[in-house]
Amino acid sequence: MTVKKGMRIGLTGGIGAGKTTAANYLRKLGVYVLDADDASRMAVEPDSAGLAALVLRYGRRILLQGGELDRARLADIIFSSAEERAAVEALLHPPTIQLMRALEDDYKKRCPTAPVVWDVALLIETGMHTFMDEVWLVVADDEMRAARVMRRDRCTKEQAYVRIYSQMPQYDKIKYADKVVHNSTTLEEFHWQVYSCVERLLD
Ligand code: ATP
Repeated sequence: MTVKKGMRIGLTGGIGAGKTTAANYLRKLGVYVLDADDASRMAVEPDSAGLAALVLRYGRRILLQGGELDRARLADIIFSSAEERAAVEALLHPPTIQLMRALEDDYKKRCPTAPVVWDVALLIETGMHTFMDEVWLVVADDEMRAARVMRRDRCTKEQAYVRIYSQMPQYDKIKYADKVVHNSTTLEEFHWQVYSCVERLLD
């Protein structure tokens, strides 16, 4: 099979499965990884189009005194109703993607044949998988995911399972994945699987 150079890879996975661990390992290998969480934070920096869109909808009460976004207030709005959450997501999704594309374009100017990994928790839910060359899905047993979330976030087993079950199930995501990376295993074995996915794309 011929491998296209400069592939755009969508990396995703449910809470506690190990997506961030995979992303960090890819960075260690020298792969360029774009983080959707970072981009969504950049998308609402002062003077950004994203922040302007939020102010247009919610007024200046969404801002702190210095003009930055009041994240606590935005969280209150998001958790107040499913409609508001959807509205905020619809406002912030386009500028976030635009930013990621701009960062990717910049990188491609320097390294046109290198792969770019888009690390996006809601890759499939938001339809972003449709503009990826490949989708890599990190999965792990629910029990293991819950144990990791409990340890990392210092929460109860019940809270961990609520978070896991509030997301799209892993088995529904598998049909969109070109590669499924299993992480109910040691870090060493997990890293090896990630390496096997990326090795063929590197110069
Ligand atoms: P989230 O969506 O919540 O960020 P995630 O899929 O990105 O989840 P990670 O942050 O990569 O998950 O992993 C969750 C926790 O489990 C982290 O503390 C990480 O160090 C740990 N972890 C991940 N994989 C392994 C593994 N194979 N062995 C031991 N610990 C692991």
